[in-house]
Amino acid sequence: MKEKKDNLVCSFCGRDKKDTNVLIAGINGHICDHCIRQAGGIVSEELDTREKSELSKSLQLVKPFEIKNFLDQYVIGQEEAKKVLSVAVYNHYKRLTFKEEGGLEIDKSNIIMVGETGTGKTLLARTIARMLNVPFAIVDATVLTEAGYVGEDVESILSRLLQAANYDVKSAERGIVFIDEIDKIARKSGNPSITRDVSGEGVQQALLKLLEGSKVNVPPQGGRKHPDQKFIELDTKNILFIAGGAFDGIAKHITRRMNTKSVGYQSAKERDSVETENILELVSPQDLKSFGIIPELIGRMPVLTYLNPLDEDALKRILLEPNNALIKQYEKLFEMDGITLNILDEAIDFIVEKAVEFNLGARGLRSICEAILTDAMFTLPSDENETKLVVDAQYVQDKLGHLVLKKLKAVS
Ligand code: ADP
Repeated sequence: MKEKKDNLVCSFCGRDKKDTNVLIAGINGHICDHCIRQAGGIVSEELDTREKSELSKSLQLVKPFEIKNFLDQYVIGQEEAKKVLSVAVYNHYKRLTFKEEGGLEIDKSNIIMVGETGTGKTLLARTIARMLNVPFAIVDATVLTEAGYVGEDVESILSRLLQAANYDVKSAERGIVFIDEIDKIARKSGNPSITRDVSGEGVQQALLKLLEGSKVNVPPQGGRKHPDQKFIELDTKNILFIAGGAFDGIAKHITRRMNTKSVGYQSAKERDSVETENILELVSPQDLKSFGIIPELIGRMPVLTYLNPLDEDALKRILLEPNNALIKQYEKLFEMDGITLNILDEAIDFIVEKAVEFNLGARGLRSICEAILTDAMFTLPSDENETKLVVDAQYVQDKLGHLVLKKLKAVS
């Protein structure tokens, strides 16, 4: 019996048992550790290739031009941001389907968008995710804290993504995360030697780990309220991170860098708005660093773009043009009650004027429309004789008292 055992060989490579570390017996043969390793390699390569080809089929690699066209249907203006995003997203998903050749790997194209609040940063990210049909999560950087502090760990970002993917790990691993208000975790001073406020930096360091593309243990329910939940491992290598922030005051850093201090006699307010309008186009990674974002994080988010403030013309177009434009939505709501809603151009202009006057931005448009139309939406469905509602400037003015606008300003 002993002799027979010594003569055992691997049925795949023919190695003698004594030349192997482990020889495993099957029903009709044996396999050695060398062959297991080799076979394992072949299997994972084969699965990887198959997965990549399935992925490229399911993502159908939409070209940048088509991505931009899609964005145009939902987002008004912001041409530069749309172009930059389209290319970055295209490259990101191309990278996912790319098979590593001779050590060549394509870097990730995580994105930072700089622009005033309410100019469409979230909308852009959301629209892209919708087009690609990938899971999408929005997180607010302000609630993130370093591990051990009150607040949310950065891992909770991935919990949200997992939830958005219905806990399908594979699908979450190629999703998109939008990190809002990234500027709020900036170090308060651009000078790294002054570390009076280290909290922001701690969160940035933690975020870095996610962006670096590593395997992260994610609490599926998020937060720390469920200490006994089982962690799910998520690989962040292929998750696209898009960060957005208003970066209030970055204009100062840009001008300082460009050494083109603005001179003039405008009031401070005027000067600011002129600067922001023109100067964000010139934003560079260096300015983010001066603002207080650590260089490692900037390095991990190599695509930088900006958004323009919305002027009256843009606000008007936002009301009327996107596929799901507010006015179209209200028309539909009224139509469902058999009422034709006709908001005259003069009324639209008036709404826009008030949104600008009260600095309500695009977000305020909805509250203004609600304030104008609520009464009609309350009474008309019960009024069987009414088939038409014409809204002119006077109607808007009647519904939008000064007090109403003040209230809207307070909540926006
Ligand atoms: P941000 O993320 O920049 O603070 P959002 O994308 O959340 O702003 O915009 C708030 C809302 O304003 C959006 O849901 C959308 O209705 C509207 N909006 C803002 N900018 C645009 C735009 N450029 N085109 C169309 N709608 C816009």
